[in-house]
Amino acid sequence: MSDELYKEYISTLKQNKIKITFVRQCVLKIVASRKHFTISELIAELEMQMGSVNVMSIYNNIDLLLNLNLLFANSINGKQIVYEAVAPKLIHINCYNCKKFEHIDYSSIDEKVTETLKPLMQSAEFKLDYFKLDVYGTCKDCKK
Ligand SMILES: [Zn+2]
Ligand SMILES: [Zn+2]
Repeated sequence: MSDELYKEYISTLKQNKIKITFVRQCVLKIVASRKHFTISELIAELEMQMGSVNVMSIYNNIDLLLNLNLLFANSINGKQIVYEAVAPKLIHINCYNCKKFEHIDYSSIDEKVTETLKPLMQSAEFKLDYFKLDVYGTCKDCKK
């Protein structure tokens, strides 16, 4: 788990005067440690940790994190929603064939993309905080 990320979340909650409940702590720990997760995966993991969970409160926590810009919601094929921690630079590959949806984590590519986006955003008078790119095509397994 990324302790640093978790600590950042807690301080963001404090700054926004949001109560740090036990359920919230558990949710944040999972968000900080996982790349992608669905709401049912989150609920299953919380149930393992805590026994029973109030599903409504999990949805409320997800909404809260989305509102605080701590969480991204990716919709896959317009159906399934996959959540993940907001990161400054994200590139996702989406394979048309096997529906693979994955991160690519090459920081050198990220830098170049940021450098390309900066002047574009400046001319649009928009302050860029982070970006998320979705790339579509065929993955290496399907190309064979
Ligand atoms: Zn594929
Ligand atoms: Zn991702």
